[in-house]
Formats: sequence, C-alpha cells, structure tokens
Amino acid sequence: RILGNKMSKILILPGDGIGIEIIAQAVKVIDSLNRNHAMGMNLVSGLLGGAAYDETGSPFPDETIRIAKECNSILLGAVGGPKWESLERSLRPERGLLGIRSELELFSNLRPAILYPQLASASSLKKEIVSGLDLMIVRELVGGIYFGQPRGVEIKNGERFGVNSATYYESEIARIGHSAFQIAQKREGRVCSVDKANVLEVSELWRDVMEEVSKEYSDVKLSHLYVDNAAMQLVRDPKQFDVMVTSNLFGDVLSDCAAMLTGSIGMLPSASLDKNNFGMYEPIHGSAPDIAGKDIANPLATILSVSMMLRYSLNQAELAEKIDSAVSDVLDQGYRTRDIAGDSQKVVGTEEMGDLVVKALES
Ligand code: NAD
Repeated sequence: RILGNKMSKILILPGDGIGIEIIAQAVKVIDSLNRNHAMGMNLVSGLLGGAAYDETGSPFPDETIRIAKECNSILLGAVGGPKWESLERSLRPERGLLGIRSELELFSNLRPAILYPQLASASSLKKEIVSGLDLMIVRELVGGIYFGQPRGVEIKNGERFGVNSATYYESEIARIGHSAFQIAQKREGRVCSVDKANVLEVSELWRDVMEEVSKEYSDVKLSHLYVDNAAMQLVRDPKQFDVMVTSNLFGDVLSDCAAMLTGSIGMLPSASLDKNNFGMYEPIHGSAPDIAGKDIANPLATILSVSMMLRYSLNQAELAEKIDSAVSDVLDQGYRTRDIAGDSQKVVGTEEMGDLVVKALES
C-alpha cells in the first residue's frame, strides 16, 4: 500500500441500519474532494455485518478481507440490528467487526472526544468544564483481557468458575505506546498512560514499557494515572488531558465515558490503525435500528471519520482541517440533526446535513 498517495483506494463498508444513509453523506464529501482537490480517491464497496450475512451467509466474507488488503483505508458505517440478534454468536454482525479488526491487526484505536463549543449545552457537565474539549483516547484493541488465555467457564470444586486473563507482551505495549506518542507529537505533546499498576502485574509491565518508549520522544511529556483516578479526572476536569493511552478493557470503558461527556454520540468519529497507519474509520455509534431509513440520523460522525482518514492514513492534514471547519461552519449557521438540536435550531435531515457540509466545503 502506498500511503499518502493521492490516488488512494478506499473500501466503503456501509454495513447495516443507518450505516447506509450516513455513509452516503460521507461519500458526497469524498466526491467533493475528488472534484475540487484532485484527490483521485477511488471507492470500492464491500459487505460486512448483517448485510454480508444476508448475501453470503457470513458476516465477514473472504471477499471483503481480500479487497480490504488491496485498499489504502476503510470507511465503515455501522453493523448490527435486531434482525440478526438470534443468530449463533459466530454469525452475528459484530463478529464481522471483531474479525476485520484482528485480521488486519488494527491494534491502535483512536477515539477523539471533541465538544464543539456550539454544542456545549448537549453535555451533562457544566459548560465551562467541557466547552472546547479536545481529548484523544488511544486504546489497545487486539490484546489484553478480551483475548488472553485461559478463558472460559468451567466446573471447579463443584461449582461454576469463570476465568479471563489480562495478558500483554511487552511488544504489544510498546507498539500502542509508539502510536500514542506519535499522535501526541501532532497535538499538544502530552501523554497520560492509564493502568492499575498498584494491583495488577500486567499493569506494572505496562507502566515500565511506557516509560521505556517515552525515552524515544523527548518532545512528549508522559504522566501516569490509575484507572479509577482517570475515570474521576475525566468527569472532574476533562480538559486537563491531551492524549490518554490505555489497555483494551480500560479503554473500552473510559472512551465511552469520554464520548458521553460530549453528549452527542452522532458527532464522534474513530480510527483503528495498524503499524503502518493503514486504518479503518467509523463513527463510534452503532447502526441505530430505531431511526434507520427515516432520514434523521446524524451523518457528522461519519463525515468526521473521513477527516480522520485523511489525517492519519492519507497524509492530507490540510484537507482534514477543511472538513473539520466545514462541519463547524454548518453548526455555526445553526443547522442541527434532531439528536443535537436545541430548542430554536434549524433541524435538518441526514441528506440535507450532508449537502450542507459539502456546500460549506466548497464555499
Ligand atoms: P446505537 O449507537 O446504534 O444507538 C444508541 C442510541 O443513539 C439510539 O437511540 C440511536 O437512535 C442513537 N444514535 C446512534 N447513532 C446516531 C446518529 N448518528 N444520529 C442520531 N442518533 C443516533 O447503539 P445500540 O442501540 O446499542 O445498538 C444498535 C445496534 O448497533 C446493535 O446491533 C449493536 O450491536 C450495534 N452496534 C454496532 C457498532 C458498530 O458497528 N461499531 C457499535 C455499537 C453498536
């Protein structure tokens, strides 16, 4: 794969539910960049999740992984829905998501929590505490207790006994550390590593390795917090953080908490990267079956996922900035989808929001 090449090939995976509608808006933005900035982004579409199961019998078809490996990056809508909930675990849409992440070794999950000042009233925290929040959580995505062995439920001493194992090789910790430090270099240069080193040996190793990796980044300041304190600090004073790096389990919980600080799930993008910055980009929300097909879903998280893709995989930071500004302009003009609308806003549908962003991008 040639990263940073303008002639990039992007795999589009709309998925299920609102995935289809929101991806269509992101595609409009990509088409606009192709037209006006000669980006030459070549889009190919593929199947993942419930839609893939319906068509091929698998939520994660071999064909999808084959095409993914030929692409420079992936843009995903969302997967899942009630239609597939009764399927056996290995056939459920979410399996497709876990499958593609681990098959492509997408170990570094970037979850920004950004609160646009225009939307500060959407947060449950006081405006002065969250307005302008811009935090990046870097979560290890393919290791730790979600994957460690042994695992399972067995009978022991005559009763049921459940076990999972929090495991990390130092190489797994080092690679997520490098990812976090490199991101901090492009931001304010501060990394806070979150662990539970006062109780867990695996966390002691995590802390030692983070210290070792930090020696290669003299321009980045490293600090440490225990996860319980990190959760408190996130709610008390979230703007103190620049980049937070943590393990799979802690990152799962803290990134959802950080997302909720913004009060607008429909606004937050994410990236999952491999060691060469090949990435899969997707909104953090799910397929929202309750609102699918009604032209009310917020497409901005997906459009902002395109911005992250340009920044982290395609080396087009200026264009990423343009998308971010276009979104901000549309919010400044007072337009809102229903999920982020205050009392006196101009409420628009999914399609119109997509068109407004393109218009702002081209003006
Ligand atoms: P969800 O994120 O889909 O929805 C939660 C709530 O937020 C719903 O009320 C929904 O209407 C609203 N919402 C979500 N995105 C929105 C948007 N863009 N605009 C406006 N409102 C939005 O979570 P859920 O309801 O727990 O899950 C629904 C399905 O999605 C399940 O099958 C679940 O497994 C799946 N899921 C997929 C992903 C993914 O693909 N990455 C992530 C989470 C959940």
